[in-house]
Amino acid sequence: MTANILPNYIDGAWRAAVALETLPVTNPATGEVLAHVPLSTAADVGLAASAAQAAFDGWRRTPATARIQFLFKLKRLLEDNMAELARTITLENGKTLEESRGELARAVENVEVACGIPMLMQGDYSEDIARGIDEYMIRQPVGVCATIAPFNFPGMIAFWYLPYALACGNTFILKPAERCPMTMQRVFELLHQLELPKGVVNLVNGGPVAVDAILDHPLVRAVTFVGSTAVARHVYARAAANGKRVQAQGGAKNPVVVLPDADLEMTTRIVADAAFGNAGQRCLAASLAITVGGVHSQFVEAIADAATNRVVGYGMDAGVEMGPVITAQSKTRIQGLMRLGTAEGARLLVDGSTAAVKGFANGSFMRPSVMDGLSPDGEIARAEIFGPVLGLIHVESVDAALEFINSGKYGNMACLFTASGASARKFRVEAQTGNIGINIGVAAPMAFFPFSGWKDSFFGDMHGQGKHAVEFFTQTKVVVERWPQEWTRKF
Ligand code: NAD
Repeated sequence: MTANILPNYIDGAWRAAVALETLPVTNPATGEVLAHVPLSTAADVGLAASAAQAAFDGWRRTPATARIQFLFKLKRLLEDNMAELARTITLENGKTLEESRGELARAVENVEVACGIPMLMQGDYSEDIARGIDEYMIRQPVGVCATIAPFNFPGMIAFWYLPYALACGNTFILKPAERCPMTMQRVFELLHQLELPKGVVNLVNGGPVAVDAILDHPLVRAVTFVGSTAVARHVYARAAANGKRVQAQGGAKNPVVVLPDADLEMTTRIVADAAFGNAGQRCLAASLAITVGGVHSQFVEAIADAATNRVVGYGMDAGVEMGPVITAQSKTRIQGLMRLGTAEGARLLVDGSTAAVKGFANGSFMRPSVMDGLSPDGEIARAEIFGPVLGLIHVESVDAALEFINSGKYGNMACLFTASGASARKFRVEAQTGNIGINIGVAAPMAFFPFSGWKDSFFGDMHGQGKHAVEFFTQTKVVVERWPQEWTRKF
């Protein structure tokens, strides 16, 4: 074995996992093995949970104003190390450096929002709910909280939760994706520099075994998950059955609707970015464009051009607009879904399924693909592809587009391109998805808004980021107090 085995971070120190089994972490552009990730077991999770529990009482009693001082320092450390963190994301995930910097900017933004906790977690007070009786509500932390993350945003998704969990006074365990664990390894080196009390933050590397151990561990009080719908459903059910607070964000099939009055040049540029950016591996990737009325032929031509001209290559290299997909298996899966699409009657307008990049024979590269005329009743019009493939469907009205969108099982995002305020308003009111874009292709909420998936894209009540995260990471306590006037002492 040439590359190192990544350690876990538990109780303020790096330690080798108890688990002996490992997986290679590979650079998807070169095939090079970067490290080996341990597949931690219940024993590793147990160590992290015990450390986090032991740290909880001291941390929750640390004033919020003192807790956020660590976050101010973390913001500075993240910014100072931005270039290196971005390189790590690109190395293990394949996305371009610009995309890596973009996700880190959102990570920092979440730290900034969580610095407002002294105000965000304030309670409510009502005087004289009855004569001489007052009632108030305070927010207290929940306890040990855990986050389970996917591979596609190795630097950002942990930050939808980590800063809020800590700021609210919880202790925390992170289980990053086993395919991209190195970014969080580096982030935890930065967290170590903060000199937080031992056990406040913990990192457990691994896969499904570690996840199930988190879901079953009695000391873990709350779990957040981001990943595919099948696993989200499993996490939600198992954590809830064990009496935990849980939210689980799942997969998606995000439609963009193009109306005849849309600005075609701008729309094409934005839709191409939304479909092929991050190699289509975003939970907010536009994977279906629905054209309405006469715009179809013009849009088809323009988007086919944009797909053909996109620069594919190594994410580290200047000028590259799209990197590889995450693994060779992922490429094979995407190719299979494309074959299914053509079998269902779609026309492969641009076929990027077998692309190779010169000098990167071992990379899992694809080029953007466009499939026209997807069968609305077929599987491909409904299934998440999670690769650089845009399907096209044509309908005659906004109502028909909305009917199609609302009959789907996912509800992560829907976008509309138009110059009509009335069409935009109708779309915003009627589309059954939790994130809406109007002349926007990736409607990713800023850190002070919730990341609002609906339907099979989300299981739970409170979402990640902003005030939802504060609600999720606190439990309310209501106090009713009587202090009779006649007890007033005379001094
Ligand atoms: P994934 O579901 O395969 O893995 C996510 C996490 O779950 C990983 O940490 C993994 O170790 C763990 N896991 C995998 N299989 C498991 C099992 N059987 N039991 C228990 N744990 C298991 O997802 P992925 O491939 O890493 O990420 C891509 C998916 O994530 C896509 O479906 C994408 O849409 C979704 N995603 C959703 C959002 C959102 O906000 N809704 C954001 C990003 C990604």
